[in-house]
Amino acid sequence: MAIKEILTVPNPVLKKVSKPVDAVTDETRALMDDMLETMYDAPGIGLAAIQIGIPLQIIVMDLSREEGEPEPKYFVNPEILEDVEETKPYDEGCLSVPEVFESIDRAERVKITYLNYHGERVTEWAEGLYAVCIQHEMDHLKGVIFIDYLSRLKRERAVKKVIKAEKLKAAV
Ligand code: ZN
Repeated sequence: MAIKEILTVPNPVLKKVSKPVDAVTDETRALMDDMLETMYDAPGIGLAAIQIGIPLQIIVMDLSREEGEPEPKYFVNPEILEDVEETKPYDEGCLSVPEVFESIDRAERVKITYLNYHGERVTEWAEGLYAVCIQHEMDHLKGVIFIDYLSRLKRERAVKKVIKAEKLKAAV
């Protein structure tokens, strides 16, 4: 396993649309292992492959609390089949937009289908933080970042903040 570099805004690669994976192979699993390790190292609760520069429809996630046992989840070619009309705001953050948190409205519950780590089809309803996180990560597969939902002013301010922080980091 290896820790990969996480791309940050305004890197244009993050705007790419990710392609479906043909089959879940050992190579796919090796990529998911790297993604999970990168996410834990960051640390974060979700990561899409495009965030490490790979335009494939793959997401890893772990919503367990720090004290608890790790509960890694893997999603290949996820699709939203249904969602409820009710939305709920949640303060979202993103490893590609470090230190920026903004309230975003998302569907409270979504019915999703995807292939898991073993390539098996899973169909289930996601709700709560799980629903927020899967919608956020699936946006990445379409090249959409949560700050795209903000006003232009707020979005530009967020990107500037990230550029400044990255410059400081590079200077160390
Ligand atoms: Zn994100």
